[in-house]
Amino acid sequence: MRLTDAHIHLADRTEGFPHDRYELFCTCVAQHSQWKTQASFSYSNGVRFYGIHPWYAEEWAHDVSDELVSILENDHKAHVGEIGLDSKRGTMELEEKAFAEQLDIASEMDRCVNIHNIGCDGTLVSMLKRHGNGCRSIILHSFKNPDAHPFSGLECYFSLNPRLLSKSEANVREIFRNLPKGRILLETDYPHVPKDFVSAEEFINRLASILGMSPEELSGTAADNLRRALE
Ligand SMILES: [Zn+2]
Repeated sequence: MRLTDAHIHLADRTEGFPHDRYELFCTCVAQHSQWKTQASFSYSNGVRFYGIHPWYAEEWAHDVSDELVSILENDHKAHVGEIGLDSKRGTMELEEKAFAEQLDIASEMDRCVNIHNIGCDGTLVSMLKRHGNGCRSIILHSFKNPDAHPFSGLECYFSLNPRLLSKSEANVREIFRNLPKGRILLETDYPHVPKDFVSAEEFINRLASILGMSPEELSGTAADNLRRALE
């Protein structure tokens, strides 16, 4: 099985993440205070994302924006995330400003973005069209919409999280059926995993069995896709 992870938070916890078993993983941050820790990671199989999460949108400021640009200028393998919109927490006006400006930076610098979205599909799609056109790719973290059509025509990748397994098997199959197979990714959001989470391998085995695929096929597709998304 080829292990890849499109969305984790190593700055929140490194212990317990079996990084040497991974072919490739993306580590995101949520707050500015974590950027230094993020920069200290030097895993050859780890890709660093820097950003301000919508829950902490008030941290987004001129000097933080300048710092993000300078990090990206100095590290051509770095990307932007976790950024996004959350209808259930925070102030939408601040979130939209922070999100738009981080998208603009990623677009201008040809980088990927790793996106959090709770209940903001419409605004998200229109902001991606307006500000995210130059992004190398757009990773939609913990994707579980039954309909991926609003995102077609954008450089979106759909990252499946163990939380998907709380849905019925029929629902999981329907969500998967509606996704372009060349755009599927796998993630755990480590260390923010569900209570019953055992391991990435166990997640892949369960998801593959629900989908009627082999774990090798599912993990191999996700690995090829993640490589393409970051290329
Ligand atoms: Zn996250």
